[in-house]
Amino acid sequence: MLGKIRPSWYLKAPEKTRKTWTVSEQQKIFTLSKEFRKTDDVIYEMGSSYAGLRRTQVHNQARLFKLASEGRCRQCGHLIPQDQRESNKVHFFCNECKSKNKFIRFKRRKKFLRHHICPLCETNPLFVDPKTKKELKTCVNCLSVSYRRRVAAGNCGICGKNPIDHSRSVALCTNCLDKQRDEK
Ligand SMILES: [Zn+2]
Ligand SMILES: [Zn+2]
Ligand SMILES: [Zn+2]
Repeated sequence: MLGKIRPSWYLKAPEKTRKTWTVSEQQKIFTLSKEFRKTDDVIYEMGSSYAGLRRTQVHNQARLFKLASEGRCRQCGHLIPQDQRESNKVHFFCNECKSKNKFIRFKRRKKFLRHHICPLCETNPLFVDPKTKKELKTCVNCLSVSYRRRVAAGNCGICGKNPIDHSRSVALCTNCLDKQRDEK
C-alpha cells in the first residue's frame, strides 16, 4: 500500500437509494400478507426496521414473490420454460423479456449519449476531459461516485473489473496502469 492518505469522505460513497429486496424479505411479506388481510397490519408486523414501508411496496413485493414461487416471469406472467431454468436459482424474468429489456436499456442509453446527457443520472451534461478534450460517457458527479464506490469495494476505479494493484497504485489495476503508461 502506498503511503497516501485519503480524506475520510473519499471512501464513503453514497449508498444506492433504490431498495433492493432480498428473496427472504419478499417471502416474509408474502406470508404475512396471506395471514393478515389489512396491509397496515403487514407493515406493523414487519417491525420497526421497516418504518416508512408503503402499501404499494407491500403489494408489489408479495405479488413478485408469488410469481417467482410459481415459476412465472414477473413481466409477462408466462411460465418460464424448464430449459431456461437453472437449479438453486430464483428466476424473475423469462429470456424473451430479459433480452427485450436489455435492448430497451441499450436504446435509452444511446439516446442520452446522443444528446450529450449522462445516461446514469439522466440529468447532467457529459463530462469533457479538460486535457484531452474527449467526452466521457458519464457526468462529473456520476463519474466520481462510481469511481469511489469501485475503489471502496477494492476494485480498480476505472474498469471496476480487476483488483487494485497495491504495489503500484492506490486506485487502479495493472491493466489500466499499463494502458495509461502507454498513452503518455
Ligand atoms: Zn417474460
Ligand atoms: Zn450523471
Ligand atoms: Zn482497471
